[in-house]
Amino acid sequence: MAICEILSVGTELLLGDILNTNTQYLSRRFADMGISVFYHTSVGDNPERLAGAVRTALSRSDIVIATGGLGPTPDDITAEICCREFGFELEFDKATADKITAFFIAKGVEMPRSNLKQAYVPKGGTVLENTHGTAPGMGMKKDGKCLVLLPGPPYEMSEIFEKHVVPYLSEYRSGAIVSHEVRTMGISESRLAEEFSDLLSGENPTVAPYCKIGEALLRVTARADSAEEAERMTQQVIEVIRGRIGEYIYGIDCKNTEDAAVPMLRKAGLTVATAESCTGGLIAKRITDIPGASAVFKHGVITYANEVKVRELGVSEKTLSDYGAVSEETAVEMAKGIRRKSGADIGLSVTGFAGPDADEDGKSPGLIYVAIDAQGFTECEKIETGRNERDYNRYTAASRALNLIVKYLKTELKI
Ligand code: AMP
Ligand code: MG
Repeated sequence: MAICEILSVGTELLLGDILNTNTQYLSRRFADMGISVFYHTSVGDNPERLAGAVRTALSRSDIVIATGGLGPTPDDITAEICCREFGFELEFDKATADKITAFFIAKGVEMPRSNLKQAYVPKGGTVLENTHGTAPGMGMKKDGKCLVLLPGPPYEMSEIFEKHVVPYLSEYRSGAIVSHEVRTMGISESRLAEEFSDLLSGENPTVAPYCKIGEALLRVTARADSAEEAERMTQQVIEVIRGRIGEYIYGIDCKNTEDAAVPMLRKAGLTVATAESCTGGLIAKRITDIPGASAVFKHGVITYANEVKVRELGVSEKTLSDYGAVSEETAVEMAKGIRRKSGADIGLSVTGFAGPDADEDGKSPGLIYVAIDAQGFTECEKIETGRNERDYNRYTAASRALNLIVKYLKTELKI
């Protein structure tokens, strides 16, 4: 089984200026190809440290794929350093130089002389043509190991990878790796780890819990000779997970609760309207982030002040004074109110303390009520995040409200 290491080169990555999307892209594609990625390394544009990183990578991995640092400027040193460490000499390649020249002629701009630096390629290696830019990719193979160098711009990198690197690495492929994410809401990562301690120690498929903002997920990954077999193995484990914590699962492989809720609403042919307090429109925003939301989203209001909750939603003044704005009673009246006013099938509401400070009544930040009202069905959930981070609490409140839609459609309407 071949082991691969992805080496990202560029000081901008270490400074946090750009997100390392190349590594994410390549990791996913290697998984599809059945090649295990064991290491991600990032290193700046520094000759000594890059040389050290390549040496280490070549000592522990069969395939090393580097991205970045193939440009024409003096800080672009990837080709020179990596080839030297792998024992390949760079030589001027006329065919590559002609392609670079033609690239500039086609654009109608004069070619800076420095670009000819990109026409130096490893002697005895393979030039991987770049049709979107000037820096070609390079491949070298020696003693069962393989080193691939690709330019940093993601558009160029992915094109060269798909066209030239995938066939170049065909001898290293073995079967397929399939991975699925079981998304849950309302159960903690540590409880998941406890509940599935038997599965977490498995080697194939592997099951691993991860924590996201206000939710946790289980990633199930299987390796097999064929993608179909790996798929079957993951599905078996997903069925076991469903059997134990089915009520907490809101979706498989969806990105978030809105990504689960909107298609379900469409399937059910139902509409929703929202009444939000502490989330300030975030639920409406997240619903409308999903293409096709117009079929299911009626309208949303932000009723921040008490008098607006009364005027716009018909929340009773007595409820507000007896229980407070952040209470189950208020949340339920808000959900009923917006459903009645909008004519939507489902009313969804949220009221809570986003923090970071405690409110006048001493109620803690992170105390949130979300409610749903539909025909013959009303439910309210109390959430205590225990955090005094405003963004975290608002995002979690919105997720939990959206999850009420998923739960309602799943349990009551069997969608
Ligand atoms: P370079 O090949 O080092 O000249 O990189 C050119 C540009 O590619 C950089 O300025 C980044 O915008 C982009 N880039 C380089 N490395 C990465 C990476 N690992 N992920 C995403 N973008 C990258
Ligand atoms: Mg660079």
